[in-house]
Amino acid sequence: METKLKIAVQKSGRLYEDSLKLLKECGIGVKNGMNKLKVEAENFPLEIYFLRDDDIPQYVADKVADIGIVGENVLYEKQKDCPVVLPLGFGKCRLSIAIPKESNYTGAAFLQGKNIATSYPNLLQQYLSKNKIEAIIHEISGSVEIAPGIGLADAIADLVSSGSTLFQNGLAEAEIILRSQAVLIRHQTLSTEQEEILARLVFRIQSVQKARDNKYVLLNAPNDNIEKICSLLPGMRSPTVLPLAEAGWSSVHSVISETAFWDIIEQLKAAGAEGILIIPIEKMIA
Ligand code: ATP
Ligand code: ZN
Repeated sequence: METKLKIAVQKSGRLYEDSLKLLKECGIGVKNGMNKLKVEAENFPLEIYFLRDDDIPQYVADKVADIGIVGENVLYEKQKDCPVVLPLGFGKCRLSIAIPKESNYTGAAFLQGKNIATSYPNLLQQYLSKNKIEAIIHEISGSVEIAPGIGLADAIADLVSSGSTLFQNGLAEAEIILRSQAVLIRHQTLSTEQEEILARLVFRIQSVQKARDNKYVLLNAPNDNIEKICSLLPGMRSPTVLPLAEAGWSSVHSVISETAFWDIIEQLKAAGAEGILIIPIEKMIA
């Protein structure tokens, strides 16, 4: 029987779509998994298990699944021994302490002796211990943000992305405990065949990530300034220069990171570059 790698992904919620999108961008087709616990990938030796995100570290630690996609917040809260293979760049959020916005907050010492509601008791306790604060932790599993409003707690520790949920509940972010994103985790030990499949998957993910960060740039340049323009464009190797039908002009092609591009656009224009096109790259094999 063909060896497969079992991957655990969130069955619904904030990580579901990005997890499946990533697999799809890696050329791994997954037929509508929504209502199934388990599906086989179409063209890659991968079996996908759809689970609650909270259970994923445990399942990977127990080798029910070999690898998984989960937020660092959940991974570190659960304190399971699952090595991180690589960060995935989505599901970004922070675990923060928030307090009623009218409070007179003077620093972490404000929390001394307070009641703090959270779904992340371990991460909160670590933070409090590190800062030598004694507080009472109330573990609740959901709707943590309403706890101060109903008199259940003086503060909360919860996930924040935009901060609008906090704002709607009259809370303000006071301290960041952890910055988190989705990561690929693995079981400590895999068979040689499984290691090979994982290496193939990681190679594909890295190609997708590199492509995401980079853009293909095309521009027209007067031949007199080609050297200057090429020196501004750090390509994969060096830019491609092709003559245009119009005498004295060339077309310059290169691959550069999107952020680097915005830094040099003015210099490119000053050097006479025209008709600049920025094109997304689908895969990038360095
Ligand atoms: P499940 O039913 O799987 O237990 P859940 O309700 O615990 O789902 P979601 O709200 O879907 O979980 O969040 C899943 C993960 O998405 C979080 O653990 C976190 O890593 C990430 N995330 C990113 N932004 C946010 C945010 N603003 N609020 C909550 N989670 C976020
Ligand atoms: Zn959850």
